[in-house]
Amino acid sequence: MTPTGEQLCYVDAYARSVSARVRHVETGEAALVVLDRTVFYPGGGGQPSDRGLLMRAADGRTWTVRGAKKAGGEIVHELETSDGDPPAVGDDLQVDLDWARRLSLMRTHTALHALCGVVWRDHGAKVTGGNMEPGAGRMDFEFETMSGDLVGSIEATVNAELGAARDVLVNVLPRAEAFAIPDLIRTKIDLLPEGIEEIRTIEIVGLDLQADGGTHVANTREVGGIRVTGYESKGRINKRIRIELVDPVADA
Ligand SMILES: [Zn+2]
Repeated sequence: MTPTGEQLCYVDAYARSVSARVRHVETGEAALVVLDRTVFYPGGGGQPSDRGLLMRAADGRTWTVRGAKKAGGEIVHELETSDGDPPAVGDDLQVDLDWARRLSLMRTHTALHALCGVVWRDHGAKVTGGNMEPGAGRMDFEFETMSGDLVGSIEATVNAELGAARDVLVNVLPRAEAFAIPDLIRTKIDLLPEGIEEIRTIEIVGLDLQADGGTHVANTREVGGIRVTGYESKGRINKRIRIELVDPVADA
């Protein structure tokens, strides 16, 4: 099954639907479907996979995609078990994301990078991990001096940076070039597996640069604002900050 199907999420985060043909189907507890192209994000880097719908062009039959994952380099769509027999190899489908959910994840993901950028620039604290759901997320930092007062000022600074309407750029760099960028090293790029020859980066221009496989909004203005909803110590050095988006998710 080569070459790999087209993976639009990495190139155009705003692509929410596409026509595709079924290349491979596996039945089991849930049917797994591989297409010749898709807009689904398979999950990773703390961003959950997309959900959405497949609709067969020939007869309008639909299947709910309850999740997606990467397997053998391919993006695999996992169908809802109650939807019956899966589509067949060769079927032409319309592929549609649950766009409100995806857009919320994009805004949340970019908000978390803005938080990382501020915490690094103003406090020199490295990020050690993170996770998100639509509209809310958390980041862990090596941040010994974190306090309630500091977290309040971090929230205000992140909101000012988001309001500064900074562009968010996607780049793909050769490995050697990426490893020469100090900002990338601090986010533990050195942990990336040997075999990866190209590094995808997300840059919030003037604020943050990270190796990242996720989907992001194109400008920080689209995030709106954030609120810090909690912070906690995970040890003397390791601290966690929780945030949420302040306004309801707009379905663009
Ligand atoms: Zn990220």
